Amino acid sequence: MIRLSSIITLFETTFLPQYKNQRLPSHKKALGAMKVCRTRHSLLMLARCDKCDEQVYVPHSCGHRSCPHCQHHESQQWLERQLKKQVPAAAIDKTQTLWRTKKSGKNTPYLFSHTALAEVFRAKMLEAITQEGFTLPKQHPSKWVVDCQSVGTGEKALIYLGRYLYRGVIREKDIMSCKNGKVTFRYQNSKTKQWAFKTVSGEKFLWLILQHVLPKRFRRTRNFGFLHPNSKRLIQVLQLLLGFDPNRALAWIKERPKMLCRYCGETMTIIKTRISPTRVLAALVPT
Ligand SMILES: [Zn+2]
Ligand SMILES: [Zn+2]
Repeated sequence: MIRLSSIITLFETTFLPQYKNQRLPSHKKALGAMKVCRTRHSLLMLARCDKCDEQVYVPHSCGHRSCPHCQHHESQQWLERQLKKQVPAAAIDKTQTLWRTKKSGKNTPYLFSHTALAEVFRAKMLEAITQEGFTLPKQHPSKWVVDCQSVGTGEKALIYLGRYLYRGVIREKDIMSCKNGKVTFRYQNSKTKQWAFKTVSGEKFLWLILQHVLPKRFRRTRNFGFLHPNSKRLIQVLQLLLGFDPNRALAWIKERPKMLCRYCGETMTIIKTRISPTRVLAALVPT
């Protein structure tokens, strides 16, 4: 399998000047992270066996959301964070006296009328934009497209979203070849679902990958209100009041495979992180 890190190493020096006017600082940062992800240049963790004290250095992964090595773990962690925030769907009614749940509402899968919700959302959004001193374009649409679908408890929707948010741009097994300055990869045509091949220069390949890296401070999703990371306590109170156990929601998530000792098979615990590889090497070579 051709590793993305090897392609970055090969073409980075020609790519950077060639795309000088188009690339963003976040692009360079992404290349830097993915280049060393789980290679001999990455920072190391030290793990120790709980039973026999065997120690082993393991390279850190880069954790960049565009990195093909890191995406699964990162999306899993995101999913766990979201599931911990689950509360049963409910709202306080207009008179502010009734705790309205789906059961107390009409015979519909929705808590609110979703078309009314879309209108309120639009009005609030436009108001916020104007308040910030921005002028709206003359022809902004008067009607917003709303796609509202009942998703049950929302777990499946979260899994889908998690995959979308952290999906690397390309899987390394889809990089077919890298020779004579050109990279060939395969991709699935979204309409026909047929596999197709494409060959581009190594520099262009890196540019295609970086198209999906967001500029600094941009986020694909943001959490507001009681879902904001600052509101952990509030969510815990809600869960307690509503008798909701977030751990039950987490139960179906597969546990991460543990690191096992190569001598005795016991689990290993990480005891130190972010160790520079040169320091480890220096410690091994007698002076
Ligand atoms: Zn051991
Ligand atoms: Zn990585």
